Amino acid sequence: MYPQIRIDIVKLAKNLEVLEKLAKKGKCSLMVVTKSFCADPQIVDMLLGSEYLRYLADSRIENLESYADKARMAGKETVLLRLPQYCEIEQTVRWADISLNSEIEILRLLDKEAGRQNKIHKVILMIDMGDLREGVFFRNEKEIFELCGEILKMQNVKLEGLGVNLSCYGAIMPKADNLGIFCEIAEKVENKFSIKLPIISGGNSSSIYLIPRGELPAKINNLRLGESFILGREAAYGEHIPGTFNDAVQLRAQIIEIKDKPSVPIGEVGMDAFGNVPHYEDRGIISRAILAVGKQDTDPDGLTPLNTKAEILGASSDHLLMDVSGCGYKPSDTVDFSLDYSALLKLFTSKYVKRVYI
Ligand SMILES: *Cc1c(COP(=O)(O)O)cnc(C)c1O
Repeated sequence: MYPQIRIDIVKLAKNLEVLEKLAKKGKCSLMVVTKSFCADPQIVDMLLGSEYLRYLADSRIENLESYADKARMAGKETVLLRLPQYCEIEQTVRWADISLNSEIEILRLLDKEAGRQNKIHKVILMIDMGDLREGVFFRNEKEIFELCGEILKMQNVKLEGLGVNLSCYGAIMPKADNLGIFCEIAEKVENKFSIKLPIISGGNSSSIYLIPRGELPAKINNLRLGESFILGREAAYGEHIPGTFNDAVQLRAQIIEIKDKPSVPIGEVGMDAFGNVPHYEDRGIISRAILAVGKQDTDPDGLTPLNTKAEILGASSDHLLMDVSGCGYKPSDTVDFSLDYSALLKLFTSKYVKRVYI
């Protein structure tokens, strides 16, 4: 059945192996982030077989719930990446061993709930180093110390470490300087309270490029990696990570029509199905294919046909339009695509897309 995501578990295992080596080189523990593939059970099972990997992380509590039991059985800890919602405190304590936090009210509720569930819930306090997504702003050191002080007094919540997230909202690059300041803050917290923080989490797939360069500050001992695992791509410069596969996950979609038609629509141009006024390039009469996959399933801008002669023209909710002139396709043939992060994320999220493991 099509459209289908074709998942090569062997290639993904190889990606994990390369990241483990990189992490080891950077003296970092590894959290593999499962959100982009919606915690697909077969991929998760492969991850659970890794010895080096200590943490599985996700931004959605539903995904953690789906694998928390077997992850713990395999000796791994689960990590909630998105700051817990007020409405999911109970689930956070139940399914996440560690959560990332920045709000004292939520931390107090986690403490209470952890007491109720008779658990110790670990937290990583997020520091915003300028990307302006989550975390206490790094210049407000007073607030950082106060929060740490309060957490350290809690009965059932344990301050497991500090974390930083970059390259997300603000597209700010992790560098030796901003990560260096982050590490200084961690040191100040440790000195002020005479503690040793087990986790100093230095970011996501955009931080790994610093390891081969020897520029990852020594104090950073953890990275949270999603894109680099699933797509073999570091996220600072978008470069391929040597030794990994960027085609471990692909899309295969089926052609439902091929006809020779003009490349420019006929009639007065109004708005398309999404309210945009389109522009068309006139290539004369072309061989046009329609594939049964659309914006409800994926991000068409993030698809690249493996057949370099074929070209995507556009898409509506359920249809992908391609120029397949000279490709020799017939209806019922399928076309394979490599994916970017956005296309991959939506394919895994769409209930209309099947998954095939190869
Ligand atoms: C999604 C996410 C990650 C993983 O990001 P990648 O760029 O895919 O490696 C890490 N940390 C947090 C807080 C996230 O939300």
